[in-house]
Amino acid sequence: MTAPDDPPLTGPGRDHGPADDADGTRVVRAGLPAEEPYEPPLPGPVFAAHYHLPGEVEDAPYAYGRDANPTWTRLERAIAELESPEDTDAEAVVFSSGMGAISAVLLSLARPGRTVVLPSDGYNLLAALRDRLEGFGVRVRTAPTGGNAQRHELEGASLLWLETPSNPGLDVCDIRELARLAHEQGALVAVDNTLATPLGQRPLLLGADISVASGTKALTGHGDVLLGYVATRNREVAEAVRGWRKTVGAIPGPMEAWLAHRSLATLDVRGQRQAGNALAVAEALAARPEVSDVRHPGLPGDPAHALASRQMSRYGCVVSFTLPDQAYANRFLAHLRLVSDATSFGGVRSTAERRGRWGGDPVPEGFVRLSVGVEDSADLVADIRRALDAAAPTPS
Ligand SMILES: *Cc1c(COP(=O)(O)O)cnc(C)c1O
Repeated sequence: MTAPDDPPLTGPGRDHGPADDADGTRVVRAGLPAEEPYEPPLPGPVFAAHYHLPGEVEDAPYAYGRDANPTWTRLERAIAELESPEDTDAEAVVFSSGMGAISAVLLSLARPGRTVVLPSDGYNLLAALRDRLEGFGVRVRTAPTGGNAQRHELEGASLLWLETPSNPGLDVCDIRELARLAHEQGALVAVDNTLATPLGQRPLLLGADISVASGTKALTGHGDVLLGYVATRNREVAEAVRGWRKTVGAIPGPMEAWLAHRSLATLDVRGQRQAGNALAVAEALAARPEVSDVRHPGLPGDPAHALASRQMSRYGCVVSFTLPDQAYANRFLAHLRLVSDATSFGGVRSTAERRGRWGGDPVPEGFVRLSVGVEDSADLVADIRRALDAAAPTPS
């Protein structure tokens, strides 16, 4: 029976379906199984090295724990949905770490004589992977992320690897344009989407074939899980990386996969808070005379801002900047109270480090990569200002 003042059965309210859901709505249910009476919304981790396996193996969804696990399956559905909403062709494959996922793409597609184009300013372990690729007879070319410089290296390439925003320099390249140029050469395009997360940027919707990320960082956001994934609509790539995972065994533990899935529900609220904090911190840093080269794609004056605002919906939680020298940067880090001196980024607790301490990144000695957490914005800015004051050399 319809009450006389019920809303009409047509109109915008009525037609609003899953495809129209905003990200904040999408994340809280992504990958969850259909509701069953008396079952939990997100079933707990399945700890199993093997499954009951009667008869032949062909159609068995779960046979051995290195090949598949229902806890991964749910997380993979969630990630595919976030990287490419409402797209039933997109699939994700989870790995034990971001490097596990990156290696799976680069090494499973590597063949002697093929050419791969990498960023020269990407995640520092790409240099080690380059050596591996060259050891297998793959030709590797590199160019910086900024200015879309990789476009000059595409001739005859079979894979273009982008990292945007780049870590730690926070440069940005045009995914849509580079994907178009790479596809003209017959190359596949992969994007390291670690920094942005799928709520900040959707490479598959911008024309890339593969979105790869470390889930260790902002995706899971609590600094207690290592994880990686590959998301793609390309069946052959999905097959290749799944086969690679099985062969090298770079599988996530069920507990890690479950924790990761659990943390997706807060990805939007964390990201929103962190985005606001990052902008406030970047603006405060930019106003200081002793701080140079403040980079954050969301900062209106940033060289990457115009491009970033065209392809990103949120700019991430990392701010980078340079202090006069190594000792200055170390004093600053030591005086922070709310920001821990630690590597990695994307967590709910703010961290910062002098990146030069690792070697390998092309950055000045006083370069600091700061990851803002979900603390109160004014507290964070006050702590950073106070630490900068305390780090200033005492006049002699
Ligand atoms: C951290 C990071 C990786 C590596 O991820 P792990 O989970 O540490 O293996 C890859 N790419 C980028 C951009 C990263 O920041």
